[in-house]
Amino acid sequence: MHFKIPKEKEVPLGCITPAPVTEQPMMITGNWRIYRPVIDAEKCNLCMSCIIFCPDACWQLNAEEDEPVWNAKYCKGCSICINECTSGALTQAYELDFEDGVVRLEKPF
Ligand code: SF4
Ligand code: SF4
Repeated sequence: MHFKIPKEKEVPLGCITPAPVTEQPMMITGNWRIYRPVIDAEKCNLCMSCIIFCPDACWQLNAEEDEPVWNAKYCKGCSICINECTSGALTQAYELDFEDGVVRLEKPF
C-alpha cells in the first residue's frame, strides 16, 4: 500500500531527533501497537526512508549489520515506515501473531 502524496502536501525533510535520550516510562508507545512493521533484510536497499520518516525514531541504522534495527518498545504501529519504504522490504504484521506481542505480555513494558 503506497499513497501518492500531492507535491504541495509533502513534508520537507528535517532532522532526526533520536528520542528519548534517556528512557521515560510514561512515554513508552510500543504498547499501543496493533500491527508491527517486519523487515525483509534481503529486499532492503538502505534508502533510510524508515529511519527518516518514523515519528518516534524507532528505526536506527545498525552499521555492523548494514540494516535498520527496529525498536519494539517505542514503535506505536502507525505504519508510516511501511508506506515510505522504497523497496517493499517492510510489511505490516498483526501483533497477535507474535509470541512476544505486546497484547500477550502480562505487563506490556
Ligand atoms: S510503524 Fe510507525 S512508529 Fe513503528 S517503526 Fe514504523 S513509522 Fe515508526
Ligand atoms: S525504508 Fe525500506 S528499503 Fe529503505 S532502509 Fe527502510 S527497510 Fe530498507
